[in-house]
This record gives sequence, structure tokens and C-alpha cells, in this order.
Amino acid sequence: MSTYDVAIIGSGPGGYVAAIRCAQLGMKTAIIEKYDVLGGTCLNVGCIPSKALLDSSHHYEDAMKHFEEHGIEISGDIKLNLKKMIERKASVVDQTTKGIAFLMDKNKIDVFTGMGAFKDATHIEITNGKKKETIEAKNTIIATGSKPATLPFIKLDKDRIITSTEALNMKEVPKHLVVIGGGVIGLELGQVYHRLGSEVSVVEYMDRIIPTMDSAQSKELIKVMKKQGIKFFISHKVSAVSKKGKEVTVTATDKNDKEVTFKGDYCLVSVGRKPYTDGLKAENAGVKITERGMVDVNDHLQTNIKNIYAIGDVVRGAMLAHKASEEGVMVAEIIAGQKPHIDYNLIPGVVYTWPEVASVGKTEEQLKDANVEYKVGQFPMRALGRSRASGDTDGFVKILSDKKTDEVLGVHMVGARVADVIAEAVTAMEFRASAEDIARMSHAHPTYAEAVKEAALAATDGRALHI
Ligand code: FAD
Ligand code: NAD
Repeated sequence: MSTYDVAIIGSGPGGYVAAIRCAQLGMKTAIIEKYDVLGGTCLNVGCIPSKALLDSSHHYEDAMKHFEEHGIEISGDIKLNLKKMIERKASVVDQTTKGIAFLMDKNKIDVFTGMGAFKDATHIEITNGKKKETIEAKNTIIATGSKPATLPFIKLDKDRIITSTEALNMKEVPKHLVVIGGGVIGLELGQVYHRLGSEVSVVEYMDRIIPTMDSAQSKELIKVMKKQGIKFFISHKVSAVSKKGKEVTVTATDKNDKEVTFKGDYCLVSVGRKPYTDGLKAENAGVKITERGMVDVNDHLQTNIKNIYAIGDVVRGAMLAHKASEEGVMVAEIIAGQKPHIDYNLIPGVVYTWPEVASVGKTEEQLKDANVEYKVGQFPMRALGRSRASGDTDGFVKILSDKKTDEVLGVHMVGARVADVIAEAVTAMEFRASAEDIARMSHAHPTYAEAVKEAALAATDGRALHI
């Protein structure tokens, strides 16, 4: 039986990054993945394929609607080849997952394909079809991720009533896609199919879309997406979903308790994700799972069993790839005897719609709830030369800073490429910058990032230059 310093169960962005860091720190490392390909949800059915389809559909929409205003004329029809678009997405995924296999090899990490299950706190049995083998691990990191959640009354048939996984692999463009949940997945994938020609109706339980982000972002995004043609039904609680032939019916009640029905040919259920520990046999090792199905961990991501840790979507906190990866690095370093730390307040959140939405730190609602006195500096994208040049004038940058000390407490953006621009705010907040610090930094012209400087000037003492 092979013995390892660390075994990692699950090869998503939590698990594979943890494996690389363990190997870098000189530990003999094994990674166990139940599927034949590495990379987990993020690389196979999450971040990467969804961004590939967002990019492809954006090109299609530009060709259909925006080339003309740039003086580009196309003779003949523009045709969508969905099969090719999906094949391109698959090839992006393929290249990316092969990259992870290369990294495992380069770092001399042993890869086991099969379902990993605890026999006890130091032994893991790996089952692949009829083949079974057991390895010994001084330390184990559980990185088994998450699966789509659903509502108790919904039967996902994965044909017409689908999750994000099927929505990334469609054979036809829906005529009418009814999306349950106006969160990240619903909006990103809803926008993909709207661009490709679907009628899209988003049914959201809360009184705003992307409800965990700053409410100014929710308002701006719903305004822009409505202008694009997507229909929104907020404060609507879905109570039933049924299918007859090719027709799906979604029933909801609005805020006045009135019943509303939506008929479409596909229904995307995007109401969140749930931690995944099926088949792990955590009980054999004595690892505690919470009532909500998460692996219970302390501040050091250690379970109640001292040599077993857990990271990523299977533990508390935001279900984000970069959060899982940071936790992977942290646990590897803890096992190596170091004292790393993650500031969860500074994990950015991004929605890859167009315009993009990006946030870091506290929202205005959170500061109000905590009775923190703050200043607001906001700058609209339409006042930037860069935005006018590209034609992306929707959105804003909003900076919240402490009223007394001017320390930046939260930065919230909607606009072109803000998924990239948010990194400046994360860096500034990591170094505990004041709004004035950002305001005094030179920002290249013309860039979308200039909106950060202008919002910082506005927060400092209301002296934005270009508005
Ligand atoms: P996962 O990536 O879920 O990996 C867990 C792995 O463990 C899987 O490969 C699974 O097969 C394996 N496994 C489970 N149990 C066992 C077992 N017993 N034995 C062996 N293997 C096992 N996040 C972002 O930050 N940015 C985005 O743009 C983004 N887009 C997304 C788009 C979609 C459509 C979806 C669904 C998610 C998206 N996410 C995004 C979320 C992101 O994918 C997750 O937060 C991330 O993948 C979590 O990483 P993880 O390593 O914890 O788990
Ligand atoms: P989500 O939590 O972002 O959104 C779910 C939405 O469904 C919420 O707005 C919620 O109010 C709504 N909802 C819940 N019950 C409902 C009901 N009965 N009727 C109508 N609406 C209802 O979840 P998601 O969009 O499914 O995404 C899952 C996870 O994947 C998220 O945690 C997210 O972090 C991650 N993800 C991230 C990205 C990204 O970083 N860009 C992209 C996709 C997914």
C-alpha cells in the first residue's frame, strides 16, 4: 500500500491547487478524482465553459446588432452554428483540463481515478468500476465540491427541466427559456441564450436580482438587461414546474399572492448549489457533516478529526473557484507548519454578464446594518472616453470609505471589463488604502480603470474631475 503525506479528494480548483502547493512544499501528494478528467466543476461544467459561451455569444450579438454602428457591413445573412459554438467550448475545456494533468505530472503528484471513500481517518479506498485500491494518508484534504441544488417539488429531467450542466451543452437554442433564480448562473446563462435568439424570462424569489451584491448593482444590471430584452419577474415565488411533451410550465405566486404561469420549451433551474459528500463515507473517519450537508471546519479549515481538512464549495462561505484555490493553498501551508491567513472580506465576486458586475468588501446595506459611518463616491462609465470609444457606457464604479479615516471599505462596479478592474480595488484594500490614496494614483488614459480613480476622488471630498 502506498503512503502519502497528503491525499486530496477532488480535483477542482480547490483540490488541484492544494495538490500543487503541497508538492511545492515537499510533501508526497496524491489526488483522487472520480471522473476521468481533472478540473472539477469549474473547468468542466462551470467557470470555463460558461465563459467560453459568454464570449462566443457576445461575438454573435455584436455581429448581429453592433457591427453596423462601427461601419462594418456584412453582406449576406449572419448564421449561428450552435453545434460549432458548443464544440469550441468543449475544446477550450479540453485544453484547460489537459493543462491540469500536465501540472500534476510536472509536480510529481500521483493521480488516482475513482471514487474516494474513507475506510478510517488515515486510509482511503479508491473504487473505479471493479477495481479497488487503498492508500494511506497522514493528512487528507476533502475538496469534493458541490452539485446544483433544486426545489423539493421540481423533478429535474435534464432534458427540458435542466441545470447549468445541461444548459452548457444544448442541441438547440430554446424558443422560450424560463430561468428560475436571478442569481449568477441564471443571469450568465440566460444572457447567453438571449443573445442567441431565445426569449428569456427570469423568475426571482427576492425583490431584486443578484440579491447578495450591493443593491445599486442589482438596480443597474436589471435596468440594462431589461433594455437588452430579457424579462424579469422579481418577488415571484415558484411553486410548481411541470412538463408536457416539449412544453414546460412554471407556476409562481407574485407579491400579491396572485398565481402567474410561464410557458416555455426549456426551464433552467438555478437556485444555488449544495455541498457534495455522497459516497465519501465521511462517517468512517468520524468527520462531522453539518445539517446543511457541509463538512464542518474551524478557522484553519480543519475538521473535528485533526489530520483531515476540507476546502472549497464543500465548506462554508462563497462558492467561488478562487476562494476554493486560496483555501487549498492555506491548508497546504498549515500542514507544512506555516501560519497562512485568508481575509474572506477581500474575496472578490464577479458576474460575467455584459456589462460585467464586480464587488469586493462591504456593501452599503452591510455598512448600514453594522452602523458604520461611511462616505460614497460614485462615477458613471458613460463619462469615460474609453467607454464611449468602445460603446460600453452602462454602469458605474462606487467606492465606500470610512467617514472618519477614509479607509476603503467596499468597491462595487458594473461595466465593461470590471471583472478585471476589480483587482485594483482588492490590491488597494489588501494594503488598507484610503480613498485618497487611490485618487492620487496615476491611472492610464483612456481606460475603464479611470472610473476607479474618479470614484475615489468623489469619495475623498466630492472632487471627481470629469463629471
Ligand atoms: P469542484 O470544482 O466542484 O470539484 C470537486 C471535484 O471533486 C469534482 O471533480 C468531483 O467529481 C470530485 N469528487 C467529489 N466527490 C469525490 C469522491 N468521493 N472521490 C473522488 N472525487 C470526488 N466560480 C468562479 O469563481 N467564477 C466563475 O466564473 C464561476 N462560474 C461558474 C459557472 C457555473 C455554471 C457553475 C456551476 C459554477 C461556477 N463557479 C464559478 C463556481 C465554481 O465552479 C466552484 O466554486 C468551484 O468549482 C469549487 O471548487 P471545488 O474545488 O471546491 O469543487
Ligand atoms: P445564486 O445563489 O447565485 O442564485 C440563486 C437565486 O435563486 C437567488 O437569487 C435566489 O433568491 C433565487 N431563488 C431561490 N429559490 C427560489 C425560488 N423558489 N423561486 C425563485 N427564485 C429562487 O445561485 P446560482 O446562480 O445557482 O449559482 C450557484 C453558485 O455557483 C453560486 O453560489 C455562485 O457563487 C457560483 N457561481 C459563480 C459564478 C461566478 O463567479 N461568476 C458563476 C456561476 C456560478
